[in-house]
Amino acid sequence: METTPRQFKDLGLSAPVLESLEKAGFHHPTPIQEASIPVAMADNDLIGIAQTGTGKTLAFVLPLIEKLQGIDGTRAVILCPTREIALQTHAAIEKVGAPLNVNSVAIIGGKPISGQTNSLKKHPSILVATPGRLCDHMERRTVNMASISFLVMDEADHMLDLGFLPQIRHILRALPKDRQTLMFSATMPGEITRLAEQYLNNPQRVQIAPPGTAAVGIEHALYMMEPQYKREAILKVLKEEKESTLVFTRTRLDAEWLSRLLAKENHSVEAIHSDRSQSERISVLEGFKNDQFQILVATDIMARGIDVKGIAHVVNFDIPQTAEDYVHRSGRTARMNATGRASTLATWVESHFVEQIEKLLGFQLPRKHVEGIPVFEETPAIPVTPFGRAGTRGKRVRLR
Ligand code: AMP
Repeated sequence: METTPRQFKDLGLSAPVLESLEKAGFHHPTPIQEASIPVAMADNDLIGIAQTGTGKTLAFVLPLIEKLQGIDGTRAVILCPTREIALQTHAAIEKVGAPLNVNSVAIIGGKPISGQTNSLKKHPSILVATPGRLCDHMERRTVNMASISFLVMDEADHMLDLGFLPQIRHILRALPKDRQTLMFSATMPGEITRLAEQYLNNPQRVQIAPPGTAAVGIEHALYMMEPQYKREAILKVLKEEKESTLVFTRTRLDAEWLSRLLAKENHSVEAIHSDRSQSERISVLEGFKNDQFQILVATDIMARGIDVKGIAHVVNFDIPQTAEDYVHRSGRTARMNATGRASTLATWVESHFVEQIEKLLGFQLPRKHVEGIPVFEETPAIPVTPFGRAGTRGKRVRLR
């Protein structure tokens, strides 16, 4: 865990919160916490540009806990892209806030709405919600948005990727204008900037590392090949792997197919994707955290919610389609001070994704090849032509 030498008390937090933090095992702030907490404590709106794994959850949770101590009623909403992230945020609030009577309830899809309605009647301090389910409650009038003074949008770019913009706008319109808004995002695409311009009030921007910088301590490897060799390649790449490994596929079907294939090869493996029920996903994530199996095959949608320490190897069975996703996926290994590996299989038609990733990272991904699989030799990229992007051409050379 990369923390700063600063003390939490230097950031304007009170004695009870400091005590609760100590008890929870947090001794020094991470850089994003050091930069964000004083801004939020001074009642400013904030745009925090940070990836998961940087400690951004506590960066917004601590100021909320601080401000909501001794205050009755539901005062804060935290919007999260996925149920998993919502549950992790809820757990963080419970850990530090519960001893101070600041509690939260997770308002997420896949759980009975009636149980949530009952929890809402108890007026928890903070609602940690996925946008769709919060809108359902708004429609049923089981939440009162008029009392909300704090809004956090966590992983705003991810929420937009998932198509939540209409729900987010609906929620923003229902909230009192007189509120504090904190927005966290790993990237700042134009839509996020526009959302911030429209709904945040003179926000301060906090950025701890240039966007797209991959965590240090990651050993990258790129395997270029023709598509028909991917199956054989993934089996070989994983054959000797004994440590905890996260494999990404582009589609749910591939996640299922690959997990079955790996199971047949005697790997202990599970799959997580949006077709699985919420309880299944939770138990798979718990199992992975507790080392009950070695390989987890996941789709992108699930990537950002996976906060598991000790993942030694992230393998992209399919190359991510944006450079930011590459950073997010590989950021699941080498969390904080640890080291890890990120391996990617790519086919020549995907060369332009490789270029984008390398441009964002600022270095070339080291090329490796799998024994017995024809080496794909790349030739320099052909620039964009008036007829579209030509991509990188290459030729295949058979190994003896
Ligand atoms: P996040 O980026 O919020 O998902 O946090 C990543 C991990 O870092 C979580 O497991 C947190 O419990 C942990 N963490 C966050 N802040 C600190 C801190 N100040 N000291 C030690 N661990 C932390």
